[in-house]
Amino acid sequence: MKYDVLIIGGGPVGNYLATLLARKLDVAVVEKKPSFGGKACTGIIGAESFEELGFPEEAVINELRGAVFYSKIQSFEIERKTPQAYVVDRKTLERELAKEAIKQGADYFMGTTFTGFRDGKARLQHLNEAFEIEADFYVGADGLASTVAREIGAKSEAEFLKGYEAEVVGNFRRDFTEVWINRELNPEFFFWVTPVSEEIARVGTFGELEVFRRFLTGRGLKPTSIVEFKAGSVGLGWRKPWVSGNVALVGDAALQIKPTTAGGIVFGAICAHHLARAIIEGDLGSYERSCSAIRDQISFGLRVRKVFKGLSQEGIEEIFKVLGSEDAVETIEEYADFDDHLRTFRALAKKPRLLAALLKISPSIIRALL
Ligand SMILES: Cc1cc2nc3c(=O)[nH]c(=O)nc-3n(C[C@H](O)[C@H](O)[C@H](O)COP(=O)(O)OP(=O)(O)OC[C@H]3O[C@@H](n4cnc5c(N)ncnc54)[C@H](O)[C@@H]3O)c2cc1C
Repeated sequence: MKYDVLIIGGGPVGNYLATLLARKLDVAVVEKKPSFGGKACTGIIGAESFEELGFPEEAVINELRGAVFYSKIQSFEIERKTPQAYVVDRKTLERELAKEAIKQGADYFMGTTFTGFRDGKARLQHLNEAFEIEADFYVGADGLASTVAREIGAKSEAEFLKGYEAEVVGNFRRDFTEVWINRELNPEFFFWVTPVSEEIARVGTFGELEVFRRFLTGRGLKPTSIVEFKAGSVGLGWRKPWVSGNVALVGDAALQIKPTTAGGIVFGAICAHHLARAIIEGDLGSYERSCSAIRDQISFGLRVRKVFKGLSQEGIEEIFKVLGSEDAVETIEEYADFDDHLRTFRALAKKPRLLAALLKISPSIIRALL
């Protein structure tokens, strides 16, 4: 079997890439799971990015208009008139993208695992059957523990965190997500409570499982009210190279993940666009270069993360005081972009009073972020 492009991994990013390529080229996708979905993922996608990327509407199960940020002792709220983010059903997202790719001519091999390259061909395993597919280009869209990345010798310089997410029954404000930052409870990450309806929210964090359980109880949610529990991992940092010969990595396989929130669907899909162009032009060399805006966002996110990890809870309380001020809330409500935190920060830093207040807390914060 010979294809123009073989995509290894039918997650959101691999399937999205297939939709971008299948009209012009012979494309095959191999996916090791027998069906789509199942991964631990809250499914939050910025509304603007969702529309721009043309993701399938069928996948949207809730719309978020705002967020309430809680520290240990205070809170503030950001509210917009229109939805700023969507919560998607992962299975529907992946299936609908695959359906679109198939309609455009892509071939799918479900329940098929890529095991390595031999003589320029991909070795695959479906149940007891081993076979090979040859392609002009190979794409590793096979997630964090990418076999393709291992095969091309890509090296990671990243922080790997375990994450937990549960669907919990309770009473929720349907169009607001909650973000809880308490370094004394969880020094690794924030907690999120993201409703999918008035009765169910996806609650999660990265760090220790025990900490997650303690948060649930503290938030007034019973661990015995969980109707679905998932665990997963994320890698915050760099994995290089993204290209070796005729093989490229995209999505989580390339650690194209936002370090501030651990969201990877949008960054992966944006990079899939650049990769699709490079493949169509027959020059993978341009791919990494054309992803420079995403690399800048990852660099910025890593600096924010470093600042976060260096702060005490008292420092976080001081920052909350500044961000919760009327001036800051107005600026965030005007400029906040779910997927472009750099833009939000720059808008805040342009306000002399806010900049001075943040400088007073710690000049190194501003230095690190600018
Ligand atoms: C707890 C948690 C919450 C998250 N919440 C969000 C969120 O709200 N929003 C967001 O944007 N991101 C979120 N993420 C991150 C998000 O899940 C990933 O960034 C996203 O799944 C990346 O998509 P992908 O297609 O690159 O990789 P994956 O979704 O990992 O897909 C890779 C696919 O490749 C397949 N595969 C792997 N190895 C092989 C092989 N050898 N052969 C064939 N197939 C293979 C896998 O079965 C899988 O289907 C979260 C992650 C965690 C852990």
